Amino acid sequence: MIAKKYGSTAGDLKQYNGLQSDRLLIGQKLRVPIMYKVARGDTLWKLAGKFDSAVPIIKEANGLSADGLNAGQKLKIFPKKLAMDGKFVLMTREEFRDWIFNQKFTRKVAKVQQHHTYQPSYKQFNGSNHFALMKGMEEYHVTGMKWSMISQQLTTFPDGKVAVGRPFDIAPEGSFGLQNKEAMHKIEADAIAIENLGNFDDNHMTAEQKETIVTVTALLMLKYGLAPSIDSITYHHWWDINSGERVLDSSHGHAVKTCPGTEFFGGNSTASAKNNLYPLVRKKMQEIRGTLH
Ligand SMILES: [Zn+2]
Repeated sequence: MIAKKYGSTAGDLKQYNGLQSDRLLIGQKLRVPIMYKVARGDTLWKLAGKFDSAVPIIKEANGLSADGLNAGQKLKIFPKKLAMDGKFVLMTREEFRDWIFNQKFTRKVAKVQQHHTYQPSYKQFNGSNHFALMKGMEEYHVTGMKWSMISQQLTTFPDGKVAVGRPFDIAPEGSFGLQNKEAMHKIEADAIAIENLGNFDDNHMTAEQKETIVTVTALLMLKYGLAPSIDSITYHHWWDINSGERVLDSSHGHAVKTCPGTEFFGGNSTASAKNNLYPLVRKKMQEIRGTLH
């Protein structure tokens, strides 16, 4: 119905907004095509920025061959489309920032889990196979693990892109790999799982991926009203995978994973998280807050 109103299709509206399903929740902010009357001082570049479009998109939609605009001229402006493949949405940090602020979620989230994928690692990433790697992980989770779909909501890549996989309103599934299923479901119920693509016991993390992990984590803290702490940003390594008990740094005598890895912001300890990751996330939250007014 909304698609019709704006002379658009449901498929286009999904791609303008990175929507994973056809259902809309009240409060969801939507980008839609608009008609716009050019005012004095407007430029294609300014309008593209203002309406989440791009100069070539506006020029093509309106059959413009030159860059000049005249006051009073009417333009049809289409929003930029996000890169999507099925329910997967692949974004830059800037696109993700707009995406998360525009989305409406209903599930309560109190913790963000940090993981590394281990496999696939940097060796499998060729710069353009984000969706293929996402599908490969989903295939493994569905066929190998018998889960309903890809376990993690978010995947970060070495080039700094971030992909949404599992919808945010569905809890992760098996992300902690615990034997104690009941304990795991409890831990996962209010979690968002981030799988950072790479083997960070071996791969040295790129600066782009670091920046994305910090930015994405900061945006999640802001979206869900959280402050960085060992309760809100948690490492897989801090949990006994047999009992589901959170052991933090007292891993002696417990079965724990080396995840998110020894190269992940200084390593798996709570001291590393407190000294190397949380301060960066706090600083990024301040930066983002400063631009919201
Ligand atoms: Zn993990």
